[in-house]
Amino acid sequence: MNVLGIPSVESVLAQPAVRALLGGLRREVVVECVRECVAALREERGKPGADPGPQGDAAALVAARVAQRLQPRQPQSLRRVVNATGVIIHTNLGRSPLAPAVVEAVSQVAAGYCNLEVDVATGERSKREAHVAALLARITGAEAATVVNNNAAAVVLTLAALAAGQRVICSRGELVEIGGSFRLPEIIACSGAQLVEVGTTNHARAGDYQAALTPDTAAILKIHPSNFRIIGFTSEAPLKELADLAHRSSTLLIFDAGSGLLLPAGEPVFASEPVVRQAIADGADIVTFSADKLLGGPQGGGIVGRRDLIQRISRHPLKRAVRVCKLTLAGLEAALRAHLQPQGPPDTVTMRLIHRPLAELEADAQALADAARRAAPGWNASVEPDESSIGGGSLPGETQPTVVVWLEAPGLAADALDRAFRLNEPPIFGRFRKGRFGLDLRTILPGDADDIVACVTRLARSGSTGE
Ligand SMILES: *Cc1c(COP(=O)(O)O)cnc(C)c1O
Repeated sequence: MNVLGIPSVESVLAQPAVRALLGGLRREVVVECVRECVAALREERGKPGADPGPQGDAAALVAARVAQRLQPRQPQSLRRVVNATGVIIHTNLGRSPLAPAVVEAVSQVAAGYCNLEVDVATGERSKREAHVAALLARITGAEAATVVNNNAAAVVLTLAALAAGQRVICSRGELVEIGGSFRLPEIIACSGAQLVEVGTTNHARAGDYQAALTPDTAAILKIHPSNFRIIGFTSEAPLKELADLAHRSSTLLIFDAGSGLLLPAGEPVFASEPVVRQAIADGADIVTFSADKLLGGPQGGGIVGRRDLIQRISRHPLKRAVRVCKLTLAGLEAALRAHLQPQGPPDTVTMRLIHRPLAELEADAQALADAARRAAPGWNASVEPDESSIGGGSLPGETQPTVVVWLEAPGLAADALDRAFRLNEPPIFGRFRKGRFGLDLRTILPGDADDIVACVTRLARSGSTGE
């Protein structure tokens, strides 16, 4: 112990709380954590004006911190949460939940070996993408298809393979940032293509693109501005017109469709969403999209289009760096199969959530509010109509009517309630808006309501935030 009250590593290791940890954890892991916590304390206490703290307790204090960090009963860091935000494709909460058939397909290949890169009939080596490529091509009407890790990778790889060192023409109104630092101009630069911007933020006509065409133009790039919408005095060249222009000028039309709506869905809520099959029919040479947005699969990026171009893309060295794993392929294949059913929208969780009838949500909301009132007699639970957004950079400005249960707990401000629900196990993410905390029924999955009621019960009993 020195003047600052910093315990030695040995004295912390001798503390009962740390000795108990050594029974279940490797010694070097524990020692390393003790060193870190001792160093942290030294830094805290070494700051000018810092409270040196009670000398004798320092070893016990550090031991408690070590135990807290290494606690074997700590839940796994990445774990299930309840999404009561109403945002259906919530990137921070893992985007699309997977349908039971998709989960089953993933778990089948996860626990053992699988025919990832071998043709069962011939025993010869095959390409891993083969498991989904034909299916993707059939569903979208494209000649050929491949998959990579996500749509950002799909865009970079496509441009690297087809446009590196050449010009790519893109409308200023489409050079967007898609959350979490995915900035299209930077992505394009990464591929080695030279970006040529045309038009203005709100206007880009076919003529603007035409004027920018030169012999070293590799492609016109059209991007679906999926997470925002410019309204008012705007114009955008239709994809078909741009495809015709590209082909007259012996160049390519590449389309980043974003959210991965593969087939027409028929509902008005999808009116502004590009359909991959339609983009191919309209003449796009390559279309890229995410697999975990409206498609309802695991994280992935689809690339569909002309066979010769897909071949060039597949042979590019970057392809190996962005290849998908067997779990992705298994899940994606199952999610794509759900697109083959003869009628109705594909049977994915995302689609099911978007289409859940309001009457069902109202009934569930009343039941949840009643259960909350029973669990916490002093609380107020009110059911109100509201709007859910689709999220995930899909359908900007489009909402689905929903129902929200707003909760009020005596003596607990809405932000404290919000935090207490997040600190629940499983964590519950609700809506915190205009000083109120509520739960949006549209994204509450079967079984989630039990977790919510258990959380309300616990908070009401403890009469506090549960911390
Ligand atoms: C979401 C989105 C992306 C990024 O897709 P990831 O699969 O998240 O990499 C790129 N472009 C558009 C238009 C998008 O909507």
